[in-house]
Amino acid sequence: MISVKRIKGGTDNCYIVAEGNKAILIDTASKRNLDKVISECDKFEMKLIVLTHVHFDHAENAAELSRKYNIPVAINKLDEELFESFNKQPLKSYGLVGWGVLGMSLKVLKNTKVERPEKLIYLSDGDDLSSYGINAKIIELPGHTRGSIGVDVEGKHLFVGDELDNWIRPGVGHLYNNLDAIRKSAEKLRKLGGRTVYYGHGKPTPNREY
Ligand SMILES: [Zn+2]
Repeated sequence: MISVKRIKGGTDNCYIVAEGNKAILIDTASKRNLDKVISECDKFEMKLIVLTHVHFDHAENAAELSRKYNIPVAINKLDEELFESFNKQPLKSYGLVGWGVLGMSLKVLKNTKVERPEKLIYLSDGDDLSSYGINAKIIELPGHTRGSIGVDVEGKHLFVGDELDNWIRPGVGHLYNNLDAIRKSAEKLRKLGGRTVYYGHGKPTPNREY
């Protein structure tokens, strides 16, 4: 029986998905939340860290947690360049919410470098995580970043990173590297049908509400 634990730190979410005692961590939150994330992960036998994309508020603790639990960090290869610099994939925004979030994010993004984990592995569309104890499939969702990915757990729990967000209400991610791509990815998610959607920012909701 799968369980999902939302770890909320400020405006960031990350998630522990567990089957019995074995668990994966989806995103890692930002540095100020590290202790909170560790205290939750310590309750499980951690098998893998999946990053929906390589922005600091999702990826900043990945290298440290990877060392601590001796587990790999999985990303899509197209996001690897973001360990060098966020400027490799500039962000734009739409709407008032997007304008506010981008304003908050840009300064931090420019001044924050995410440590590249040593144990890095790559995931692409259709890869499954059953060898890590979780019945889940990877979905490529380009748009927010080029290498953004989602995790579809048992066809019930859908982790979307920042491809969709729920700052005020659920919608297409307000920050994007490629608007056309993020809209197509949102459509791909909508078509998956009945699932609970877990966002990088905001509370979970049923799918299709955006
Ligand atoms: Zn992001």
